This record gives sequence, structure tokens and C-alpha cells, in this order.
Amino acid sequence: MSKTNNKNIFWCKNCLNMSTRPRITFDERGFCNACQWMEEKQKLNWPEREKYLKKILNETKKNKKGNYDCIVPCSGGKDGSYVAYQLRDKYEMNVLTVTVRPPLELDVGEKNLKNFTKTKDNFEHMHITTNNKSMQKMNKLGFIEKGSPYYGWIVTVFTSIIRTALAHKIDLVFYGEDGEIEYGGSTQNKNNPIFDFKYIVKNYFEGDHQKICKKSGLSKNELHHFTLDEKEFNKNNLKLTHWGYYEPWDPYRNYLFVKEKYTFQETETANVGTFTNFAQNDQSIFALHTYLMYLKFGFGRATQDAGIEIRRGAMTREQGKNLVNLYDNQYPDKFESLYLDYYQMTKDEFQNVLDNHANKDLFEKKNGRWSPKFKIS
Ligand SMILES: [Zn+2]
Repeated sequence: MSKTNNKNIFWCKNCLNMSTRPRITFDERGFCNACQWMEEKQKLNWPEREKYLKKILNETKKNKKGNYDCIVPCSGGKDGSYVAYQLRDKYEMNVLTVTVRPPLELDVGEKNLKNFTKTKDNFEHMHITTNNKSMQKMNKLGFIEKGSPYYGWIVTVFTSIIRTALAHKIDLVFYGEDGEIEYGGSTQNKNNPIFDFKYIVKNYFEGDHQKICKKSGLSKNELHHFTLDEKEFNKNNLKLTHWGYYEPWDPYRNYLFVKEKYTFQETETANVGTFTNFAQNDQSIFALHTYLMYLKFGFGRATQDAGIEIRRGAMTREQGKNLVNLYDNQYPDKFESLYLDYYQMTKDEFQNVLDNHANKDLFEKKNGRWSPKFKIS
């Protein structure tokens, strides 16, 4: 985390992305790279990209060594389900959908996954449950060391999926969108459809992957799903790519699609820390993840959601600002006892971790809670 100073922080002139966001860039108008990308998307040569998509799909099909053509990681949420459907029904690929079971699953997420896999649509699906002790340990270490409360799970979404692809001789994995490009961050892969393990470690694991594995004290076997032999990865023909490269990414379209097609369910009330109820419903740690993001960088889940709404023209910046002021600072109270139980921590130990990661330039403690010293402008 780079040290920030209250005086030199700023917000995107179009959405509400903050200058503290890792790897984000701004243009001379003060538009963040997500907002610039939104403009670029409107005039991009998408047919050209689709042509490339068809080329790699054909090549993969032609050279396939196993039963499946590709993997789509899928939680039963809106995005993976949409991508899996497109690949299978529009592009006639033999798709294997795979879920790495998240920690502290939520009922609504489990229901959605069931709806997705049990409809007459007959998606083939694999549920991976990693070593529970390893998952808990990696998540706890990520929480304490990095303020990344489901670090272990984020790692497995790549390592475990890649291991599955290699084991089943599958050469192509489609992730949904590149969050760095769509929501703000590195633009390194804007014009590059394929990404490698180095890109994952740098952007998604935020470095430190090996350090955390080592610190866990877990054995090689226990770490199987959390590690990857980079040499073996490079030896294979496996291609990792994002669906968002080939078609303009639109999370709201995905939501409407799965709602109609798979009777997708939202949570009954807005999710903690935001005003929406249809994204990231599969696990309760996401609320802690975005709360820590808020403490570390000054922006939370509502900022992210408002950005999506502003960029798709469904909300003004002013409306977004009001919602961010209302929701970003929401502490995930309703899950706290669940977290304490999961990490095996006392309330004081847990609060200490939050305190360690809170950015003291941006926040001050008032009545036992961190409160922003800045005002969004
Ligand atoms: Zn922006």
C-alpha cells in the first residue's frame, strides 16, 4: 500500500474512483482508466475481437486432448453463468463449469448455484472443496498480514482452477472480466487477450504469494490447491483469458440474463456496504473484504457499485456520491461473530487487525469505529 496524504488524494471526474486505488491511472481530464475504457468500448472494433475469439475456439476444439473444450469458473452468480451460456450455446463449446467452494458460503449463493446446475440446461459442473484447514489458515494469514480476508480463496480461484484444467487436459479457461481494466487498475492487458501466471501473482495475489504459503507452515500436500508449478504451467498449452476481451462487459446485462434464465435470486435487502443486492452473494467474507479495502484505500463496495452504474449511464455522479457517503463506511456487523468463529479470534484480536490496516492518513477513530477524515469531491 502506498502511503497517501489527505491533501493529494482525488477522485475521478466522471465516476468516484479514488487516486488511492492500486495501479489506477488518470488522463488529463481527470478520468480514471475505467472511464476511459468505457469510452473506448463504444468505438472498439468488436467484430475483430470476435474473429479472434472464434479462431482460438476453433484451434482449441481441433487440438483438444480431453473431453472438454474449456473451463468457466462459475459461482452460480451472474457473471460466470452468463459466460458459460455464451460459450456453450452460442459458440458450441463443450464447457466444464467449476466452482471453488468459498469460505463462509451464504444460502442465497448456494441456491443460485443449484438453480444454475439443476435446470434443464444441464451444465456440467465440478465443485472443488479444498483442504478446509489450509483454506482457513491461508485466509487468516491473508487477513492478518495483508488485510485480504479471503486471500486463500482468491489464490485457489486461479491455482485450483488451473490444476483442474491441466488434470483434465483442458487448454482454455475463461474468466469473466479483467477487473483492472473494467473497474480501475492496470491497463497492461487492455489489448492482450491472454494472461499468464506472473500477471495473476502481480495483480490478483498482490505479490507475497510464496511468502504467505511459507509462513502458513502447511505441508506441500496441504498446499496443493494453493500453489502452482510455474514450469508445468508454461510447459502446457493452457490459455487463460477474460470474456470481457471479446464482448463489451456489462454486469447488469449479465444479471438480467441469469435472472430470467436461471431464476437467479438476490439477497432480500441490500448487501452490507452497498446499495445493490445482486452481486457477490455467494459468501459472507466479501463484506469484510470490501470493508478492509475501504480502510486501506478510502473506497468501498458502494464506490465500486456506483462506478458501474455511473459508467453505464444509470446514475449521476452526484447520486453516486450520496450513496457512497451512506454505505461505504458500513461495518459488517451482522457477520462479525461468524468472522470471529472462522478466524478463531477474540473480538480484540480481530479489531486489532482492522486497526493495523486502517490508513491513518485517511481515517481517525471515533467511538470505536474508523471514520473518514476526507470528503469526496
Ligand atoms: Zn472513473
